[in-house]
Amino acid sequence: MTGLVIVGHGTRSAAGVDQFAALVERVRRRGDVGDVEGGFIELSRPPLTDAVGALVTRGHRALVALPLVLTAAGHGKGDIPAAMAREQERHPGLTYRYGRPLGPHPLLHEALEERIDAALAGTGLAGADRAGAGLAGAHRAGTWVALIGRGATDPDANAEVAKVARLLWEGRGYAGVEPGFVSLASPSVPAVLERLRRLGARRIVVAPYFLFAGVLPDRIVAQSAEFAAAHPDLDVRVAEVIGDCDALADLVRERYAEALGGDIRMNCDTCAYRVLMPGFADKVGRPQRPHDHPDDPVGHHHHHGHDHGHAHDHGSVAVVGGGPGPDDLITVRGKALLDAADVVVVDRLAPQGLLAGLRPDVLVVDAAKVPRGPSMAQEAINAALVSHARAGRRVVRLKGGDPYVFGRGHEEVQACTAAGVPVTVVPGVSSAFAAPALAGVPVTHRGVAHDVTVVSGHLPPGHPDSLVDWAALARARGTVVLLMAVDTIAKIASVLIEHGRAPETPVLAVQDAGQADQRSVPARLDEIGAVATREDIRPPAVFVLGPVVALSTTGPTV
Ligand code: SAH
Repeated sequence: MTGLVIVGHGTRSAAGVDQFAALVERVRRRGDVGDVEGGFIELSRPPLTDAVGALVTRGHRALVALPLVLTAAGHGKGDIPAAMAREQERHPGLTYRYGRPLGPHPLLHEALEERIDAALAGTGLAGADRAGAGLAGAHRAGTWVALIGRGATDPDANAEVAKVARLLWEGRGYAGVEPGFVSLASPSVPAVLERLRRLGARRIVVAPYFLFAGVLPDRIVAQSAEFAAAHPDLDVRVAEVIGDCDALADLVRERYAEALGGDIRMNCDTCAYRVLMPGFADKVGRPQRPHDHPDDPVGHHHHHGHDHGHAHDHGSVAVVGGGPGPDDLITVRGKALLDAADVVVVDRLAPQGLLAGLRPDVLVVDAAKVPRGPSMAQEAINAALVSHARAGRRVVRLKGGDPYVFGRGHEEVQACTAAGVPVTVVPGVSSAFAAPALAGVPVTHRGVAHDVTVVSGHLPPGHPDSLVDWAALARARGTVVLLMAVDTIAKIASVLIEHGRAPETPVLAVQDAGQADQRSVPARLDEIGAVATREDIRPPAVFVLGPVVALSTTGPTV
């Protein structure tokens, strides 16, 4: 069974550490989630590296890593994946599926409800005699709840707390539930209590939306006590944190099963690391670095190369057709993926101008260059795509034209699929059709050509590996577009004529289509080889031949 590592952030509170350990033990005792370890990325023992190390020692190579956080803010989105990336460096071949943050979840809302009821059944902070408190339910209508979250510099995480407040209110009969935050976000604890007082609240339960004891829950108690002391007419109570309990263990098991079987989506739509939120522009694409655990010897010197982009465990690959070259002939979908990418692996013929618009932290890998000789071997490209995606990065494989037209795009898709990496393909405008069009030639035209064949000229006619039926192309009447044929055009032309194409068939060579230096050179089929040499036609160029060439709206045709 896949091992589970429960990852905590760490706390200076001994009680909080004990509660975390007790929960790990509770999950382990149940025996329904395989092998379980828990570890912290900061401050507390055991460090994450020990927990992962223990699982690896027991033979696990694939784990579920579950961030024990209520909402996904910096810890869940960046720090924990970064810490896991470091573990992957330590244990080559280690893979993990990243679980979703715990909340919002009905099990948590029920646990909060129980804590609030328990507070209602007890006494208020001011210590006044609350005799006859009676059944908690009887008091709900007169009770306001201040639900206090940790608070984050991440509006999305704060919004999750507001959502929980609403869900906690729905159908439970409290007078109202208002969200507040103990750090980093507003309203603060005193501010939300004052807000409730002005709304007419007489009894308030402050409910910490916290898993375990810690410095911040202590601060909530202190601030609530201070407010209560200043307002002796109010009945202010503080509920316990959620703590180690069966509901939490149930939820851990659910998140574990979900990570194994399902499509885990974090709340990425409104994530400040991806999307520009008002006032948080600096966060978009901010690199994430692992925290340094005091017990972790690797710590401070192991950040190289693994901090590009934010490290959601959302590793994926998009094989994107970039169009024939100009920046604005990529599709809208391709551009959106490019804008969100952490890594871009780019071909020579892809629209290079788009690279200038990438965020500075995006890693651009030039597939045409090192590390394997003059051009990166396809296997090396495939391996790069897979490894970046496995490290949780969003990878765009940016190719020229359409990825499936002589682009080897499908080999990359197959490699990703074989490696279990999510992959998508985004079609592009192929030079096969775009280059003729940009030179004024329609590849089909009513009454002129009812077929168009796109052919690779990479292998000359007669080559033993060639799969092209040149004789059939010669007999056909329609349009032929030749790619990668600069070196073979003379041979191809003579074979086509030999098998029946008319020697006077018009041909247009289109070089650097879409670029400022685009040029087209016309010739008859029986002269194109000599003309291409004389005119020094160089790649990238396409040759389009057939009666449509005579329709060209720009430049002379034969
Ligand atoms: N997948 C690409 C083709 C890759 S094969 C596509 O769909 O466009 C590379 C060949 O494409 C080149 O040899 C050339 O024949 C053609 N090509 C690509 N870009 C071109 C351009 N801007 N102008 C002319 N030909 C181009």
